[in-house]
Amino acid sequence: SPYPIALLGPVQKGFGRGGKDLGCPTANLPDDSITPISTVATTGVYYGFAQILPPEGVEGFEKDDLEVLPMVMSLGWNPFYKNERLTAEIHILHPFKRDFYGFEMRALVLGYIRPELDYTTLEALIEDIETDKKVALNCLERPGYQKYKRDPQFVLIE
Ligand code: ADP
Ligand code: MG
Repeated sequence: SPYPIALLGPVQKGFGRGGKDLGCPTANLPDDSITPISTVATTGVYYGFAQILPPEGVEGFEKDDLEVLPMVMSLGWNPFYKNERLTAEIHILHPFKRDFYGFEMRALVLGYIRPELDYTTLEALIEDIETDKKVALNCLERPGYQKYKRDPQFVLIE
């Protein structure tokens, strides 16, 4: 198994393809941080853990925002770059009260959920995203996955 796959980098501004409108904002990783997963390169939806690290002096983040949290990640060829570039976008399953553009994000990809699909309706897409979140949470609850929360990729907070 290629997992776990560690990815990290500063959160970048995406192209605002409606993540927030779908109730699913996705934090984008920079191109050069995607290399570790380009060996797998199967596009679609993955699950794992993620953590954000606010820069020194940034206010407004609680302790529970800084924990190692469950996530779903979409890996796809970006139409904006004529499908020549892979993009990794991570939705963290946590109700953040504010954005964290520019913050370092660390992630461990632990498994694959499904390929990219074409949706004829927005409702169908939203429904599938909700299923992805449930699948991710169910998988990550297994005792075997808890050890990855303590992976050296992440920063332990007290
Ligand atoms: P963009 O096109 O800039 O990626 P999105 O609508 O996808 O815009 O929103 C992504 C941004 O929302 C992230 O970069 C982050 O700052 C913020 N955000 C807030 N809550 C979350 C969350 N639970 N998961 C991921 N990003 C979140
Ligand atoms: Mg996004």
